[in-house]
Amino acid sequence: MHFMKKYYLIAPGPTPVPHEVLLEGAKEVLHHRTPQFINLMKETMEGAKYLFQTSGEVYAFVSSGTGAMEAAVQNLLSPGDKVLVVVAGKFGERWLDILTAFGMNPVKLELEWGEAVSPDQIREALEKNPDVKAVFTTHSETSTGTVIDLEGIAKVVRETDSVLVTDAVSSLLAEPLKMDEWGVDVVVSGSQKGVMLPPGLGFIAIGSEKAWKLVENSKSPKYYFDLKAYKKKYPENPYTPAVNMIYMLKKAVEMIKEETLEKVWERHALLGEATRRAVKALGFELLSKRPGNVVTAVKLPPDIDGNKLTKIMRDKYGVTIAGGQAHLKGKIIRISHLGYLSPFDTLTAFSALELTLKELGYKFEMGASLKTIQEYFAEKI
Ligand SMILES: *Cc1c(COP(=O)(O)O)cnc(C)c1O
Repeated sequence: MHFMKKYYLIAPGPTPVPHEVLLEGAKEVLHHRTPQFINLMKETMEGAKYLFQTSGEVYAFVSSGTGAMEAAVQNLLSPGDKVLVVVAGKFGERWLDILTAFGMNPVKLELEWGEAVSPDQIREALEKNPDVKAVFTTHSETSTGTVIDLEGIAKVVRETDSVLVTDAVSSLLAEPLKMDEWGVDVVVSGSQKGVMLPPGLGFIAIGSEKAWKLVENSKSPKYYFDLKAYKKKYPENPYTPAVNMIYMLKKAVEMIKEETLEKVWERHALLGEATRRAVKALGFELLSKRPGNVVTAVKLPPDIDGNKLTKIMRDKYGVTIAGGQAHLKGKIIRISHLGYLSPFDTLTAFSALELTLKELGYKFEMGASLKTIQEYFAEKI
């Protein structure tokens, strides 16, 4: 039977963008060296500090999140520098790849995908390698739905000479992150996840003098992402900024400030818990040993092909969730809680999932996950 197919984006990036934000992008393109734009940029980037909970400067590159990761490596280090890098998924691997590409000497702290590195493991690794200049972590490992105890890790690293760098591309706004209070030196993120913007901006926040000292002494080749040039020009960019993305960022920051960070974290937690309960109601297990509220990674039984499942959900029902990456391709699905999503988006995801599971021959009680979610929302909302 024919039905109206709407587009539901329930993936861990890109995420849906509110209309109020999209409309900001339709404004006149200001010249980036005019007083009007410089004022807009100043207000916006000062406002963006709230998202990171830092009084340090936040820079917006015209890039995706990976550009900001590359910027962190180039700007903090010099070729040959020894660093510690946690690898427990696709994005930890990306840190390792970038560090290797720029000629660093990475010591790997490797864990199984789905495990979360602990503060004690970081302490041990730093005791064995007291000469590492920086510790590279992934706050939310999006490939496994795992969130690390960043506050605990920051406590450990703060007592050493190393700086703590974290990839918060998917965790920013979904999980509590307090740069200054916790002592996280450098945080990178991107626009198309919790910030509720389209893809196109990569953020780096520098929260400590310790980090700036490394920037001053770095001898890595760099040009476009040279932070010294950005610092000198702040709040302007040394090159043409993504003018209309800055309008949108300003609006998104205003909306988040009005909602407050605590409430933003709370709504991610609501969808995260509803999803974890619904997964159990369907008889599935979580992949992660320390699941967070960014995205939930769900292990599928061997007779269900995850590639087929996500394709049916997308093409037949209009609901885009994510599959697995690398060796988990086809074996897991990932349901997002990230950004501009409401409880009814979570219900929609599970409704389409149930219809698809039925089509694939999975035996379960129709409506089981929906009932669980409804009951949880009835109790919580
Ligand atoms: C999305 C994401 C990135 C960056 O990906 P881009 O496609 O470059 O924006 C990096 N790390 C994590 C944990 C992510 O979820």
